[in-house]
Amino acid sequence: MHLSRNGGATRSSGPHKSHEIFLYVCRHYHTEVARALSELGFTEVQVAAYHFPCSQPYGSVQPATPPMIAPPAGSEVIFLGACSVRPQADTLPGQVIALDHCIIMLIGPERWKHATRSGSYLLTPGWLHTWREQIEAWGFQKEVAREFFQETTKELVLLDTGVDPDAATNLAELAAFVDCPSRVEPIGLDYLKLFLRDLVLTRRMEQIETQQRHVMKEANRKIAEYAMAFDLLIQLSSIQSEEATIHAIRDLFAMLFGCSNPTYAQVRGGQMMQFFPSPPTFMVRSIFEQLLGNPADDYRLTDEPAGFYLRIQYQQETLGLIAISSIAFPHYRDQYISLALAITNLCGLALANARTFTMLQEAEQALRYEREITDHLRQTMSDLTTELDQEQMLQKVMEQIEQLIPSQIALILLHEGVMLRVASAQNLINDTRLIGTYFAANQQPFAAVIQRQKAIILNHDQLAYLPTLEPALTHHIRTWMGIPLLQQEGVIGLLIVASNQPNAYNANHVMIAQVLAHEVVIALQNVHMFQEMHMLAGTDPLTKLYNRRRLTELAEAAFRHAHNTSGHFAAIFIDIDHFKDVNDTFGHAVGDKVLEHLATSLRQVRSSDIVARYGGEEFVIISIGHSPQHVRLFAERLRQEVAQQPVNLPEGQIAITISLGVASLTPQIESLTELLQYADQALYKAKTSGRNRVCVWGEQ
Ligand code: GH3
Ligand code: MG
Ligand code: MG
Repeated sequence: MHLSRNGGATRSSGPHKSHEIFLYVCRHYHTEVARALSELGFTEVQVAAYHFPCSQPYGSVQPATPPMIAPPAGSEVIFLGACSVRPQADTLPGQVIALDHCIIMLIGPERWKHATRSGSYLLTPGWLHTWREQIEAWGFQKEVAREFFQETTKELVLLDTGVDPDAATNLAELAAFVDCPSRVEPIGLDYLKLFLRDLVLTRRMEQIETQQRHVMKEANRKIAEYAMAFDLLIQLSSIQSEEATIHAIRDLFAMLFGCSNPTYAQVRGGQMMQFFPSPPTFMVRSIFEQLLGNPADDYRLTDEPAGFYLRIQYQQETLGLIAISSIAFPHYRDQYISLALAITNLCGLALANARTFTMLQEAEQALRYEREITDHLRQTMSDLTTELDQEQMLQKVMEQIEQLIPSQIALILLHEGVMLRVASAQNLINDTRLIGTYFAANQQPFAAVIQRQKAIILNHDQLAYLPTLEPALTHHIRTWMGIPLLQQEGVIGLLIVASNQPNAYNANHVMIAQVLAHEVVIALQNVHMFQEMHMLAGTDPLTKLYNRRRLTELAEAAFRHAHNTSGHFAAIFIDIDHFKDVNDTFGHAVGDKVLEHLATSLRQVRSSDIVARYGGEEFVIISIGHSPQHVRLFAERLRQEVAQQPVNLPEGQIAITISLGVASLTPQIESLTELLQYADQALYKAKTSGRNRVCVWGEQ
């Protein structure tokens, strides 16, 4: 859609001048009509005479001669007359107003009819002026003429309009010629003036009506078009994103100017950023640049007349540029530009609004995000520092990372000599199991983080230069961040997060990761202190069994004694089968209860024996004074008992089995450590040969 030709034009049309009427009348009436019109002051009506021969009295039509004066272009042409125009109505170049007789113009139809009925032959000065010619044209000789008049006419009457002083003389001559009585009836021009006024005013009314209908139609169309444009403008101000506003602006201009697909350049900080719908040609781009470089110009014209360029601004700041081309009516370009300039102010406002709205939204989001992070961190800190199980503590860190830092991989690596052991891991990219795996601490990028003792962020192209890194850690990864776990003594490990998105991390993420890393260090220290304390105390806090340290202390003395006296001495290594599944299925707390339950079962040994929790879900029984066969049977009985008695807990019945490795002292064995090693080897064999069984060291 586009506005009409006049649409949007500021050019005012003013009161309409009624256009000319060009009136043809019979030459016999020309003088009267001309004078009447002039007396009426109808200057816009021109009159000319046609020279059709008057067919009176027989009604015989003779070929018309063409009108002598050509009417001016655009005027309304009217042929006014009787017998000589009526039969030609279809061929004449104008409207025909046909009368029964031309004389009706001078006296009206009633008087004319009456006169004719009463046998008066009405004559006008114009006809009388050439009466000889007329009678000749009829083809009458004097005798025939006289005969004609005497048969049809009582008297000749001159309707004296006063335009010809010779009219009465001419009448007298004709009367003498045809030998007929005659008289003069002065009529003036009064009726003719009435007649013409009616004719002209009727025409004017019609003209005005037609014009008004046209104006109304135009106005209605314009109103509809403006209403649509106005609607779009109103919508503009309620659009909240800049991109959507830009699309609406392009639609608006396309609609108003009938141009297709205008090109729009988004401008920020005096620079063109993005183009809609697509980057423009070199030419358009360079005109955009000129416009940008001349802040005083609001618009530029294109070389071809069908387009222009506009600046869209708000408070002196250019927000966008638009190129309008192929407008529907190039000759109205000036009017279009003034309309367009009025609209661009509103467009500028809408764009500024959209930008402000986006900024507010972003600020609000940032604030909300910061608050969430603060809350999270506060929660994490209190959680971590009260968690005394290292594995669980690290698991919690992983959960926090997942919530606070967008990442597909998160790892906590702890220093073990020259290696880094994965102590906790979250891997959403593939199911490579990372926990327990080792990386060399001197390989990049770990070495860099350790050496600099600072956070390092690597983006995709930098990562590409690290071919030695474990593929599981780089595959699909586009941003990588390493944070040192710093203790007073130095770096004890690393916190690593990685994302499959490019440039995923900013200063904010570093800050969060550092806070978490710091908490991890403190929590690790807590865990170690706690373990240390219990180690020193000699009992395991969960099962209340001896701990490993205490076991070695106590067993050492007994071993020495047995070794020296060749007494019976044996070690039974016990490990729960698939215990991880219990944790995974029921949770760590239930796992703990199972451990406690097993400890209770193990405690039912003779008082001379030593039972200890060796670590995790591994237990050791030191049997003193029992033969190897005895110990073996005891171990077997223990295995069966555990296998047959599921642990009853509110969470459900949990069936577990254990694998046992037994080693009895032989003269070759020199130390407790050696004996424990053999028992561990036997346990390993029990595990590898199917679990839920007892294996004895030295037996096949
Ligand atoms: P298997 O010994 O048969 O090879 O399988 P497993 O599933 O028992 O394997 P592994 O020895 O590798 O896993 C031991 C699990 O014991 C891992 C650890 O989560 C769990 N564990 C260690 N100490 C504790 C503890 O104090 N409480 C609980 N609930 N679980 C523990
Ligand atoms: Mg184990
Ligand atoms: Mg196990």
